[in-house]
Amino acid sequence: MLIDYHLHNHFSPDSEANTEALIEEEEKAGIHHICITNHGEWFEKEKGIPGSLNYEKAIERFQNTLKEITDLRQKFPTMQIGFGAEIQYEEQAMDDSKKLLESLPFDFVLGSIHNLDGINISGPHHALDFCKGKTEEEAYGQYFEELLRLVEWGHFDAVAHFDILKKMAVEVYGPFKPEKFKPIILKILKTMKEKEIGIELNTASLRKRCRELYPHPEILKWCVEIGIEHYTLGSDGHKADEYGQDLDKALQIAKEAGIKTLSTYKNHIPTKHPI
Ligand SMILES: [Zn+2]
Ligand SMILES: [Zn+2]
Repeated sequence: MLIDYHLHNHFSPDSEANTEALIEEEEKAGIHHICITNHGEWFEKEKGIPGSLNYEKAIERFQNTLKEITDLRQKFPTMQIGFGAEIQYEEQAMDDSKKLLESLPFDFVLGSIHNLDGINISGPHHALDFCKGKTEEEAYGQYFEELLRLVEWGHFDAVAHFDILKKMAVEVYGPFKPEKFKPIILKILKTMKEKEIGIELNTASLRKRCRELYPHPEILKWCVEIGIEHYTLGSDGHKADEYGQDLDKALQIAKEAGIKTLSTYKNHIPTKHPI
């Protein structure tokens, strides 16, 4: 079975997509469980400058998103449409992020790292600047330390794009080698296990420069060994031709890593589905 639990629509700062068109694309791909996970923070996509969470503006946007989802659930009764969010780690905004997540009936929340040293490492504009003057060990080391802070905060359901730094860093350091960073990655995974945080298999990277799933398949094997319980699939689609893309490939990688179930969420409560 396929699910798409990482999706952005026109309420997200980086998407103009119509939600009905999104649902139609997902149906075409044979997917009947989706979750709209718009960004908590606001930013201007064209400039690629790191965005920040503004509680008042975010809550209004998410209220409107929920209203639209509620209407679409009536119109598309065979599609399970979750109400979600993607919350990034930005130290000064985590209290407001928690308040936002407690203010609305979210089904599922992703936790992400998008920015380091004031540079947006997830976008196409300045990500390489982060690597300037840093060794591979320093760059990935700093990234995974920040990811550890995110999971220690822990008020979300699954980690998004676990090793997103590789998207651009592969151009500087060559292919990402998880073995080199195994101690800190295992520390992150053990913290996730303790806090019952799941992980997504994100296919955006298959269509980006590094052409490799987030996370690296080796990391998925460590997830299984450590006993991470919950796995989701996400296309991280922002427009029609990205919705539902490559999820069948991700499912195959999941099986090869020894993953047995995918999880969907309602009010943050997971349900496992055999794959
Ligand atoms: Zn993201
Ligand atoms: Zn996203």
